[in-house]
Amino acid sequence: MVGHNLTILLVLVHAVFGSAYRWFNWQYEVTCESDAYIAPVDEDDAAKFLQEQFAVGSHIKVVGNGHGFGNLTQCVDQTLTNKPTYIVSLTNLKDLNIHKDNMTVTFGAGWDVDDLAQELKANNLSFNNLGVERVQNFIGAASTGTHGSGSNIGNIASQIIGLRVLDSQGNLRVISEETNAEEMKAFRISLGALGLITEITIKVQPTYRLKKTTKVLNATSDYSQMYTQIAELYKEHDRMTVWGPHFDWNDETQDWDLEATYFYSYWEPTDYMGASNCTLNYCANGCGDCVCSRQFYAEIEHFIPIEYYAEAATNYTLFQQSQTPRMKAPYNQQMVIQHRTLKGDDTYMSPVNTYNLKPELSGIFAIIEIDWLQEYDNFATLWQNQELAFEFLPRFGEIYNARPHWNKMNAPNATYIQKIFPKLPEFLAIQQRQDPKCQFVNDFLVSQLGITHCAHYLS
Ligand SMILES: Cc1cc2nc3c(=O)[nH]c(=O)nc-3n(C[C@H](O)[C@H](O)[C@H](O)COP(=O)(O)OP(=O)(O)OC[C@H]3O[C@@H](n4cnc5c(N)ncnc54)[C@H](O)[C@@H]3O)c2cc1C
Repeated sequence: MVGHNLTILLVLVHAVFGSAYRWFNWQYEVTCESDAYIAPVDEDDAAKFLQEQFAVGSHIKVVGNGHGFGNLTQCVDQTLTNKPTYIVSLTNLKDLNIHKDNMTVTFGAGWDVDDLAQELKANNLSFNNLGVERVQNFIGAASTGTHGSGSNIGNIASQIIGLRVLDSQGNLRVISEETNAEEMKAFRISLGALGLITEITIKVQPTYRLKKTTKVLNATSDYSQMYTQIAELYKEHDRMTVWGPHFDWNDETQDWDLEATYFYSYWEPTDYMGASNCTLNYCANGCGDCVCSRQFYAEIEHFIPIEYYAEAATNYTLFQQSQTPRMKAPYNQQMVIQHRTLKGDDTYMSPVNTYNLKPELSGIFAIIEIDWLQEYDNFATLWQNQELAFEFLPRFGEIYNARPHWNKMNAPNATYIQKIFPKLPEFLAIQQRQDPKCQFVNDFLVSQLGITHCAHYLS
């Protein structure tokens, strides 16, 4: 880990002897060789680093904790460029100021979700939404629209009301809902493309307790019936996750066996004040200090207007079943289809943006996730399942207005992205201002967003 004072030295050392820092995401399939891992000690240090690198046009990839399935955090590999290429982490920026008078918290980019949740809890405060796990960096999570489940709750990013961001020349921009409301819509979910966010301010609320109820449902291969039943349950429960149906890999038949039951959980406010309890199998919505089990897996997650949910979930499941004969790689273990909901919003690059919805739609989105879990960490199986995962969007995207999670393997097609993110041109105008020399982009951003002015960022 080095601060900016060592950066020039590093560049020189690299020029003379060659040096490298290899970046991996959480399950090692996203990787790249950079020149160094830079961790500025504070915002000024980060700004100086950017100023120096702007002159050279270095490639700079800011990362959180690499807890994603997509290529967002992939740096420009040393082998592809003659310019310096860096991984930058703002992990040292750990300031925190709690403002109970207006129920906001301002904190540095170094805060991880779990640490922040604990710190807020100690102050009887909490934020509104969490993903299944809490290992992400807070800004890393917000920057891709991380969410839990709740028809009346927005994603993590929707809580942001202000931030400080450095552009590629090291210039600081302070953005807030009060003074630049429109620009906030671009920066809440910025995909690392708009600069280094050094600090954010979020709305918080007094901590309150939620009671979690889990119930078992019978599975049936009449998927339409099953998902229609789930759609009805979503009308009854605002915060609900359906964990299933589950399919187990049968080595003999080379097919998926549908488990007889699956379950759903819903959360509702409670006045119970006794000891809290935590289930180990599923850790959503701040259920407690639990740790989820870990193995390689492929995953897709699509956001679909809830009105289309039952039909879409049926067709997603049927499509997966029809593709089973090609799942020849070893070590398949289980396939789980998971369902959540989320309130739509007004953030340019949010997967639940409501810009192109027909007026008769509610603005609530259903989330369909498919997880292909393995019994053994094997890359051939991972890649086989990822390849299949990429095929759902071209097949169902247009039909159901489906939007992929930014960090869960979306197929690169800028034409489709433009259609489901109508504010993409506004986002790209800010991107060009923030990063005129295309130092923050990588292949994923250029191809997904169709950043034409960065088409030749490697030359
Ligand atoms: C096992 C698993 C379970 C998951 N469960 C959920 C879930 O329940 N719900 C859900 O919505 N998602 C879920 N995710 C996805 C995860 O929440 C997102 O991928 C999240 O973005 C990861 O956060 P991170 O800190 O690791 O960020 P990274 O992956 O490191 O970075 C994400 C993006 O943020 C940018 N970034 C990071 N820091 C900064 C900064 N300071 N300034 C500007 N840009 C920055 C990066 O450039 C990148 O574009 C899951 C992922 C995994 C692997």
